[in-house]
Amino acid sequence: MACSVMWFRRDLRLGDNPALLEAAASGDTVLPLFVLDPRLWDSAGRPRQAYLLASLESLRAQIGGLVVRCGDPAQEVARVVAEAGASNVYIAADYGPYGTKRDADVQRNLHDVAVPLVRVGSPYAVAPGRVLNQQGNSYQVFTPFATAWRHHGWRAPVEAPSQVKWDWSYESASLPEARVPDGITLPTAGEEAALTKWRAFASHGLATYDVDRNRPDLDATSRMSVHLKWGEIHPRTMLADLALSDAPEKAVDRFRTELAWREFYADVLARRPDSATEYYRPQLAAMAYDEPGDQFVAWQEGRTGFPIVDAGMRQLRAEGWMHNRVRMIVASFLVKDLHIDWRHGARYFMDSLVDADGASNQHGWQWVAGSGTDAAPYYRVFNPIDQGKKFDPQGVYIKRYVAELRDCPLDELHRPHNPIVDHAEERREALARYEAVRSR
Ligand SMILES: Cc1cc2nc3c(=O)[nH]c(=O)nc-3n(C[C@H](O)[C@H](O)[C@H](O)COP(=O)(O)OP(=O)(O)OC[C@H]3O[C@@H](n4cnc5c(N)ncnc54)[C@H](O)[C@@H]3O)c2cc1C
Repeated sequence: MACSVMWFRRDLRLGDNPALLEAAASGDTVLPLFVLDPRLWDSAGRPRQAYLLASLESLRAQIGGLVVRCGDPAQEVARVVAEAGASNVYIAADYGPYGTKRDADVQRNLHDVAVPLVRVGSPYAVAPGRVLNQQGNSYQVFTPFATAWRHHGWRAPVEAPSQVKWDWSYESASLPEARVPDGITLPTAGEEAALTKWRAFASHGLATYDVDRNRPDLDATSRMSVHLKWGEIHPRTMLADLALSDAPEKAVDRFRTELAWREFYADVLARRPDSATEYYRPQLAAMAYDEPGDQFVAWQEGRTGFPIVDAGMRQLRAEGWMHNRVRMIVASFLVKDLHIDWRHGARYFMDSLVDADGASNQHGWQWVAGSGTDAAPYYRVFNPIDQGKKFDPQGVYIKRYVAELRDCPLDELHRPHNPIVDHAEERREALARYEAVRSR
């Protein structure tokens, strides 16, 4: 019987998976494949590795089996195709710089044996490159992009295929060990966990999302980023539920806007692959930065003496995740109080986050560093003390992660405790460094 390969990558689910639906509809047996690519595996921190393995185990359990290969996908996919005599390889398209090149290499090898690499769908509601202005160009700025993205619209989710003739009776590598680092608690992985978490949030958390989303003490966001990262749920599924939600429209629309940020950054990165490693606005690349040293280590370890910064960095260490508002605060602190190039912080985040995503992470950092797509006419420097007071007013978040401040009275809690720098001084320094390159 003819065979098709379903090559899973960042789409570890069976529901709302158009590539899988098409593979199943071909009438062929479907070989479920995952290739553990050393280039991606070795650059992932242990929390992310551990999460991926758990997600793959969940997928394997759903299907009944999974063919795993380790190595360069360009060789491994072609090898599996040859062994199975497969006639098609189905994938969801990848738009990241590495994924685009990898898929082109795979396609070239498959072309030699006349097997097509069939791209169906993507990890986005609207694939990068599709939202264009009237001149046919991509948007440079978020707000008009988001308006046009909404206007463009997206397809309805597709059902999981009712019947797939799976065939996993091929040699399969065993997955490596990835022990969860001590003290880290990871979310439950897999499609079922993603759907359960999403539905709970849609029923109980969404209604107040617009009001509370900036409050790390309230745990008022969806925590869906890790599930979106691995494609355990498709954003279209979420958008379809949002359209039917009876939560207040302001809250629903705010959530839709956050999903639009994810799509915007993917769009920007697809258009400017260099922005994964280079300054999106090159002007700021010339700014004077300090080499990372002891202060960088203190930042990583949550020992800066600024309570909200330390709480965030310790949350990252404990959970492989950090609240969005606090990501902005700690990033600003690294770039503007410690004068360290954003790329050092972005690399540390990519290592540490379970939801680490090249587009959202690099552009989240560039936004904070002032070198990204943001059109702010001034150089924004977050005040970590004011931010703490405003977004963690009772200090609940700080006390959750900074054990030594648990007994600290509220009127002293937000002030620095043995700080490694003086914020007012470093703010002046940051603005002076900015002035030196601003008019270039
Ligand atoms: C410096 C920095 C680094 C970041 N790195 C990442 C990263 O590696 N991976 C990642 O998924 N997000 C990243 N973000 C964006 C954001 O912080 C996370 O998506 C969010 O905190 C995830 O929590 P949540 O799922 O509860 O979000 P919710 O508030 O519930 O939002 C719902 C979804 O919308 C998307 N989203 C929300 N905010 C953003 C945003 N600012 N940019 C892009 N997408 C967004 C995410 O997919 C998120 O899951 C970063 C932000 C900053 C400032």
